[in-house]
Amino acid sequence: MLNETLSRVGTISREVFDGIRDLDVETPVSANEIREHLARYDFKTPLAEETLIDDVASMLRRWGVHVVHPRYFGLFNPSVRPVSVAADALVAAFNPQLATWSHAPGANEIERHVLHYFLEHIGFDRAAASTAFTSGGQEANMCAVLAALTYLHPDVELRGVRALPGDPVFYISAEGHHSFQKIAHAAGLGRHAVRVVEADGHLRMDMDACGRAIETDRRVGRVPFMVVATAGTTGAGAIDPLPALADLCVREQLWLHVDAAWGGSALLSPRLRPLLAGIDRADSVTWDAHKWLSVPVGAGMFFCRWPDAIGRTFHVSGASYVPPNLSANLDPYTTTIQWSRRFIGLKVFMALAEAGADRLARTIDHHAEMADRLRASLETAGWIVVNDSPLAIVCFTHPAIRDGSCSARQIVDAVNGTGRAWLSDVTLTGRGSVLRACVTSYRTNEDDVRVLMQELERARERETA
Ligand SMILES: *Cc1c(COP(=O)(O)O)cnc(C)c1O
Repeated sequence: MLNETLSRVGTISREVFDGIRDLDVETPVSANEIREHLARYDFKTPLAEETLIDDVASMLRRWGVHVVHPRYFGLFNPSVRPVSVAADALVAAFNPQLATWSHAPGANEIERHVLHYFLEHIGFDRAAASTAFTSGGQEANMCAVLAALTYLHPDVELRGVRALPGDPVFYISAEGHHSFQKIAHAAGLGRHAVRVVEADGHLRMDMDACGRAIETDRRVGRVPFMVVATAGTTGAGAIDPLPALADLCVREQLWLHVDAAWGGSALLSPRLRPLLAGIDRADSVTWDAHKWLSVPVGAGMFFCRWPDAIGRTFHVSGASYVPPNLSANLDPYTTTIQWSRRFIGLKVFMALAEAGADRLARTIDHHAEMADRLRASLETAGWIVVNDSPLAIVCFTHPAIRDGSCSARQIVDAVNGTGRAWLSDVTLTGRGSVLRACVTSYRTNEDDVRVLMQELERARERETA
C-alpha cells in the first residue's frame, strides 16, 4: 500500500514535469467553487489513499497559478528541479529534527556544508560567520534586524527597545521590500522605525537622501542602527550602491544588511556577479534559494559576519527538556528564530550537487538572456522598457498606457485571462503603474517569450480598440 501511494505520487509529479506546458498557467476559479468541492470532506468516512491523492492532485492542477510553468513570468517563484522534489519527499519520510545538532548530525552538517558554499560566494570569512536556513527572506530579514539591534545595543537583550535613549530607526529605499513593515512591528520597534528613503532615477537608494535622513533622525533624538541595501529589488531588480552604502555605514557606525533575497543568486554567475560587488562588506545578508535556484519554497538563507551577535540574539538557557549540547557545534535552536527545525537545506544541497555549479550558473545566465530577449522584442514592437536592471526582470509600459487609452492592469488581466502566459504589474518610483515580467524558470525558452509578446500585443489591441 505504501509502495502504491508513493509511486502514485511519483507518477503525478512526473506528469507535472512532463505535462506542464499543456496546462493553462492560470484558470479562473471562485472561492465558492472550491468550498463546495471541499464540503464533501467532512472527515467522517476515511478515504482510500488513491482516491484522496488523485482528488488532491486534481485540485492542485485546476486551482492555482502554475508557477512552474515556462510562461509564468511572475513573482520570483521558480520552476523546481526533480531532485529537489525528491529531497523534500526524503525529508518528510525521515522527518529529522534539526533543533539540536545531536538529533540530526548528518542533516545539520549537510546544511552547514551547502551554506558555506554560498558564504564563499558572498565573500565572508568561513571561519568567522554564522549561517542558517530560514523559511524565507522575511525571516532572514527579521534575523538581521534583531541581530543588528542587539549587537549595537547590548542592553536590548534584557530590556528591549526601552533600553535605548530614543526610538530605534533603520533605513531602506522606497523600492525595498515591504516585509520590513511587519518585522519592525514584530520586533517591537513599531512601523515608524522603517525610514523609507527615496529612490533615484535608476530606482536605487538615493545616497544623499539617506545621509540626510540619518542626520535628521539623530538630531531629534532617534537612534539609527541599520541600513538595508537591496540587491535586486522585487519591483524592478535595482541594486542599491553597495560600496557607497558600506562606506556610509562605517562612517555612521550602522549595521549594513544586504537584502539579496532574489538577486543573491547572481553571485553564482561569473557574468553577473560583479553587479553585487561590495556585498562582502555587509554585516549580514539575506539570500533566498527558493527565488532563483530552482528549489521549492521555503528555503531562505541568512548569513552574518558576527557570530557573536547571533549568539547574543538567539541564545536560550534552561531548556532542560532539550538534550544537552555535548558537541562543539552550536545547536540551531540557540542560533536562529525557529525552534523545531525542518531540514530545509536538503533540496538546496541536492539541487546544487545534481546540477553542478557550472550548470547552475548557466541557468542563472539563461534566465537573464531570456529577459534580454523580451526587452529587445518589446522595444522592437514599440513598448517602452522603464527599468535598466541587468537581472532577469523587465518593467515596461506602452504609449497607449501613457496616453490613458488603457491601463497596465487591464493588459495584465487580459494576458493572464488567456491562460497562455502570466505576468504582473507594479508601481515604481517616478514611473507609475507598469507591467512587470521576470524569468525564473529554466524551462522558459525563446518560443515562450514570443508567445508572451503575441499575447501582449493582442491584449493591447483589444484593450485600446
Ligand atoms: C521575496 C523578497 C523578500 C521576502 O522573501 P520571502 O522568501 O518571500 O519571505 C524579501 N526581500 C526581497 C528583496 C524579496 O524579493
